[in-house]
Parts: sequence; structure tokens; C-alpha cells
Amino acid sequence: MSGIFDSVNTHTMRRTLTTLILTAFTLAAIAQPSTDKTAAWYNRALKTGDLAKLTYFFSQMPKGGDLHHHYSGAVYLESYLDWIKERNMRISSITYKPVNKGTRAAITVDSLRKNNTLYRNLMSLWSTADFENHYHDEVAPDQHFFNTFGYFGPISDNYKAGLAEIKKRALQENVQYVETMLSGVRIPIPSQKHNAALYQHQQEQSTAGLDAIFDQIKNSINEAAVVKAVNTYKAQLKEARAGIDDEQFTMRYQTYTTRNNDPTTVFASLYASFRLCAAERSMVAVNFVGPENGVVAMKDYWLHMQMFRYMKALPEFSKVHVALHAGELALGMVKPEDMGYHIHDALLTAGAERIGHGVDLPYEGHAAEILRYMAAHGKAIEINLVSNEFILGVKDGRHPIRMYYDAHVPMVIATDDAGVSRSSLTEQYVLLASRYGFSYREIKELVFNSIEYSFMSHAMKCSHKAVLRERFAAFEHDMAYMP
Ligand SMILES: [Zn+2]
Repeated sequence: MSGIFDSVNTHTMRRTLTTLILTAFTLAAIAQPSTDKTAAWYNRALKTGDLAKLTYFFSQMPKGGDLHHHYSGAVYLESYLDWIKERNMRISSITYKPVNKGTRAAITVDSLRKNNTLYRNLMSLWSTADFENHYHDEVAPDQHFFNTFGYFGPISDNYKAGLAEIKKRALQENVQYVETMLSGVRIPIPSQKHNAALYQHQQEQSTAGLDAIFDQIKNSINEAAVVKAVNTYKAQLKEARAGIDDEQFTMRYQTYTTRNNDPTTVFASLYASFRLCAAERSMVAVNFVGPENGVVAMKDYWLHMQMFRYMKALPEFSKVHVALHAGELALGMVKPEDMGYHIHDALLTAGAERIGHGVDLPYEGHAAEILRYMAAHGKAIEINLVSNEFILGVKDGRHPIRMYYDAHVPMVIATDDAGVSRSSLTEQYVLLASRYGFSYREIKELVFNSIEYSFMSHAMKCSHKAVLRERFAAFEHDMAYMP
């Protein structure tokens, strides 16, 4: 030790040290005013309600990750039309669905694009555009929203192009990470002879003997079919995601199961989803999709959460993450008493690590316990303001966002289905700021949460946070010169 120091001229060393300290102070002095100036610029825009300035601000601001993101709902219909054209398919001018050439009333994408009336009709069916700005005989917004998937769903499997589009838009919006719900895994469904017994358990909400039934269903699933489905999925994903991850950007994937099926189908699909996650590193979590107020989803909710509990307890699935849509309900969609337990059970029975939406929190009987639990155990809430306003009609002071924030529940801001809502992550932040008045410092914390509460590995999170810090420094430097 001493040898090294002896050989260095102590005077030079002291001078170098002084210079280093001074440089550090100067850098800090420069950095701090940039942060302060940025915050001041933001405060002025917020105070005057200048939504154009806020839109500019948030479009430029680094936004870290988007953690509640549906792949097929993120692709814009303009791209879906391109895909239909590439496949030499047509659009039905009666149903507005993709159809094969030769089908009655089938028109080409080019003719559709030339006919403004037909094009606008398609747009209003495939997305939520124009839903509220003019009178028409309309279905309920939540129904309209879920219907859109029936139009583009069948042609959404052009994953390579879809992921490239999502990445391109993310980079443009200064987003460095996306965790997208890509698709489910299809396997043959085993005999449904246990459904009656499962319904009985649901009715009695009794766990006695339930796992034995789950064991039997699991053992009756065709193992060879599962292996084949998982391997096929992995191969398709490998091809689709080639070139997506680079120094600027990372994408990770979730798979999912649909809620609104009979219990054996849900169980078997869930098992396949867990198997895929356990076998593929980039597939980081299992989710649960479909309208939460659906008849089956409501009737079997307790049972569904038990299925997640069972899967999580299997040693081979102990490391599989779970994020769940829960509490995506508003008063009137279901009976009031059915709004009281979804978030609670998703967390404490199913073991969800993140909750999507959580909008019915004020109606949950255990709201205080939920908030304490989420804060204490670092379970994040994924906030989707645009989607909640359209699908649930919940906005402004009706949204429980402040209940979560004030209880120190980790929070992330996400898009849900930006292609269907024809929106962006930027717009979510504009609403967040203009409706709830979060400070710049608080918003910056939310952005860092979107990396911290992602399902990336620890090492990936560290490197993404370092990139994010650099991006914020550059952003604040630019904003300091903004008039
Ligand atoms: Zn969602």
C-alpha cells in the first residue's frame, strides 16, 4: 500500500484532489439549477393550465418503462391495414372485419382508404376514435372497447412488424423499456369432468380438497402437447424479437390466460402460461385478461385466484412473476357487493406482484389493509388514466390515484392499449399532471418506479436506471434553455 503512495508527489496529488472536488461542486451546481429551472418551467405550465406546454414537456421527458401494455392493442389500425394488404386479404364493407379475397362485399385496403366514409366507419369500430364527439347509436364504451379486438385480433399475429412498430414509437416518446402482454399459449384442453366439482368449491369458497382436483387436472394435461406449444411459442418469439433489444431499448413479454372460460380451460391455459414463463427468460410474467365484469369472470373470481395460488406454489413456478388486472370495475357494472374484494384477493390469494388498474379500491372492504400491504411489500399499482376514463368512465377526483399515492404504494404510469385508444404514454402524463398536480420531483420518481418495479433482472434494472439518469440530465439541460 505505502509503496504506491510514496511514489506519488503529494503536492500534485493534493492539487488533483482539489481540482476534482471543485469540478464535482461545479457539476453539481450546474446540474441543480437545470433541475430547478425544469421544475419551474413545469410549474408555470401547470399553474396556467397550458396543456400544449405540458404535452411538449412530457413528450420530451424520459419516461422509463411502460409496464401495462397490450401488444395487439398497441398497434395502430393503419399498420393492421398494411398487414391485410400484404397478406392479399380484404375488408368486408358490411362487417368491417378482415376477410379473404372473394368473400361477398370484400374490398381492398386501397379502395377502403379512398372511401372516406368507409374508412371512418372502420376507424370508429377498430378503435375508440370518434366515440364521444358526435351522436350515434352506440354500444356501451367498455363493450365497444373489447369489441375492437374482434376486428384486428385475427390478423395481429404479425409479431415481428408489431414489435418493431412498438419499439419505434417508444423511442420517439423517450421510452426505454416496454413490458408487453403478447399472447396466450394454446394447448388442447383436457376432459372437463371436474368442472362440476370446481363450481361447487367456488360456490362454497372452500379450499378443502381443491388442490387435489387441481392436481388431477394438471396430471391429465397432455405433456407432449405442452412441450410442443411452449417450444413453438419460443421459436416464434425468438424470430419476432430479433433486433428489438439494443443499447437504447429493451422489451420484455408477458403471456396471459383469458378469464371468461370454464374452469378447466382457464386452469389448463394458466398452466401452459406458467410453463412458458418458466422456460423462456424474456417471458417475464403471467397475466389474466378479458372483461373483469364478464359473467364468468365475476362468477369464478375466487376460483381463478385459487388457481394462481396453486400455480405459484408449484416449485417449478416459484420464480414466475404474476401481474393481474384487478379492480377494473366501476359502480353500476356489477353489483356493489361484487366490487369489494378483487384487488385484495389478487394480492393476497393469487400473489400478484403488480395490480393493473385497481380502480374500484374505494369500494373494497379492505382498502386500508390493501394499501398498507402494497406499500409495505413493494407491490406496485399500474395506473392507466386514458383507458379508465373511456372503459370505466372514471376520471378526475373519482380515480383513486391519490389514495394509492398518499399511502406510499409504488405507482407506475402506463398506456394499456394506446393503439385502440389512439393515445400515447405522453398523454397519460399530461392527464396525471393536469388532473392531480403532481410535482416534477414526484413525477420523476414515478418514472424511476417504471424501471424498479418492472420484471427485469436486477442487473438490467441497474443499467436502465443509469441510462435514465443520463437521459434526465440531458432533458433538464435542454429544458433550462426553453423560454
Ligand atoms: Zn390491460
